[in-house]
Amino acid sequence: MSVSLSTAASLYDRVRRVIPPIEWPAFTDDIDAILVLKRERNAVILAHNYQTPEIFHCVADIVGDSLALARRAMTVDADVIVLAGVHFMAETAKLLNPGKTVLIPDLGAGCSLADSITASDVRLMRQRYPGVPVVTYVNTSAAVTAESDICCTSGNALAIVESLGAPQVIMLPDEYLARNIAAQTKVEIIAWKGHCEVHERFSPADIRELRESHPGVTVLAHPECPPEVVAEADFAGSTAAMSDYVGRHKPARVVLMTECSMSDNVAVEHPDVDFVRPCNLCPHMKRITLANIRAALEENRHIVTIDPAVAEGARRAVERMLAI
Ligand code: SF4
Repeated sequence: MSVSLSTAASLYDRVRRVIPPIEWPAFTDDIDAILVLKRERNAVILAHNYQTPEIFHCVADIVGDSLALARRAMTVDADVIVLAGVHFMAETAKLLNPGKTVLIPDLGAGCSLADSITASDVRLMRQRYPGVPVVTYVNTSAAVTAESDICCTSGNALAIVESLGAPQVIMLPDEYLARNIAAQTKVEIIAWKGHCEVHERFSPADIRELRESHPGVTVLAHPECPPEVVAEADFAGSTAAMSDYVGRHKPARVVLMTECSMSDNVAVEHPDVDFVRPCNLCPHMKRITLANIRAALEENRHIVTIDPAVAEGARRAVERMLAI
């Protein structure tokens, strides 16, 4: 998606279903400024599916889930990459395209999963389970990734685990993703106790209440949800897989058990589908705003750097994933 020749005024049609007219004027100055700054600085904005619609649909050049953003980050030939997402995503972009200036608009955009584990925790797991390969979800710091054999995302975790040809695999740090993958494979999965603070809050009772109050609703769940939630859903998959499901099946009414902005962003593409919207906000994703994207481009902040001592190992683990 390229909006480089657009202006805020010409973009409102894209988001009118999810941004009320009364709220739109608050965004237009920043959108116009960002569109100009992108041209001046030869910059692109990569936005995760959990970014708010005025970012996702109005200033982003590349959008998607963690896997899509990592793949696209590799081939960006602009001088500057602004990562509208959380810190580990910006680190992944820097790892895969080290010659570019990668900016994160707010250094506080972290992740409860990434914060649940350190590099020394991974070394301890290796000591405890010698010879067992370590698969690390990309929602971790570069230092943790560097200790891993290979990365995965929620979109490719099963394929990655099975590609290793090992009877046992250590899967870090998301316990629920690990248990959801364990239910689909004969490989024995050894999990860590990290949780996504957004997805762990959904419960099977939420789904039963939704089905009662919205008869016929199709329930899609993210695999970072507890396994009991995934078991009650009609389909479980990454944000990209959920979006794809809506496009292919066109359910009359759907609920996405994931971060709030995801429904808004998918709803823009599917005006014929009724989205029921119980959701949980990710406070880290919501630290990114039009105002701090604009400031990032104006002031060249915050530049993402990776310790060279960890960069090589981390890059190897990410590239090994992307090769599968
Ligand atoms: S939604 Fe969960 S996994 Fe994603 S950034 Fe927020 S806390 Fe981390």
